[in-house]
Amino acid sequence: MDFTGKVVVITGSARGIGRTIAEVFARHGARVVICDLDSAAIEQVASQIGGGAIGVKADVTNSSDVAALFESTISELGRVDIVVNNAGITRDGLMVRMDEKDWDMVLDINLKGAFLVTKTAGKIMMKQRYGRIINISSIVGVTGNAGQANYSASKAGLIGLTKSAAKELAARSITVNAVAPGFIETEMTREMPEAAREDFLKRVPIRRPGTPDDVASAVMFLASDEASYVTGQVLTVDGGLTM
Ligand code: NAD
Repeated sequence: MDFTGKVVVITGSARGIGRTIAEVFARHGARVVICDLDSAAIEQVASQIGGGAIGVKADVTNSSDVAALFESTISELGRVDIVVNNAGITRDGLMVRMDEKDWDMVLDINLKGAFLVTKTAGKIMMKQRYGRIINISSIVGVTGNAGQANYSASKAGLIGLTKSAAKELAARSITVNAVAPGFIETEMTREMPEAAREDFLKRVPIRRPGTPDDVASAVMFLASDEASYVTGQVLTVDGGLTM
């Protein structure tokens, strides 16, 4: 796949899946915008990736930060072709004991953040009459998961946002899709208790955990010209766990 000349904004791309997505796009010719919370980490990742990558510090829950993210992107790179809503966190706990602030924080970052980014990018893409928006959801947004009421609700909400935005933007040649990863090896999943991790992996028909590259490949497909007739879909990348 060739993304030469395309401008790709990836939220939460200082590490993990987002960073890998940025690396893969850059390797295929795109100019990438690394967006995350920590300036030093962003600058380091952008310079390691090369290929004209730039770093912009932005908290996706803050609408002024999100506006500034796209202003910088337009002023430095001229356009926005592809946006990947990847920033996300977990604050796990059983629902009956879950703190209200843990609910709010997860919904704010995982869902409201994607709304603010999609809204802002959507306006630019509508003028361009071209765009690809890919939201990183999760299989637990479809199946639910004990101990993750906040996270599952945010990822289910993201699927609703994906389908609604897809319907609103389709006439302008903008597609909006979601990728729903299963268990992917990153720092996020390293925080999981060992027993829960093993239990998860035992149920994966393709007997291995997923890698950030597995997710990046699905994102690349949905971002490609070859996927121009695919919108409002959820592409599951989970080794067969939820089939
Ligand atoms: P990670 O924790 O390694 O990376 C997440 C990144 O998001 C971090 O760099 C973090 O600083 C950034 N971030 C957090 N809050 C932010 C904010 N307010 N504004 C901007 N950036 C912010 O996580 P990961 O495992 O790479 O996960 C990436 C995405 O994939 C998340 O949305 C996650 O929910 C989703 N996902 C992960 C898995 C998995 O198994 N790892 C499975 C399904 C879905």
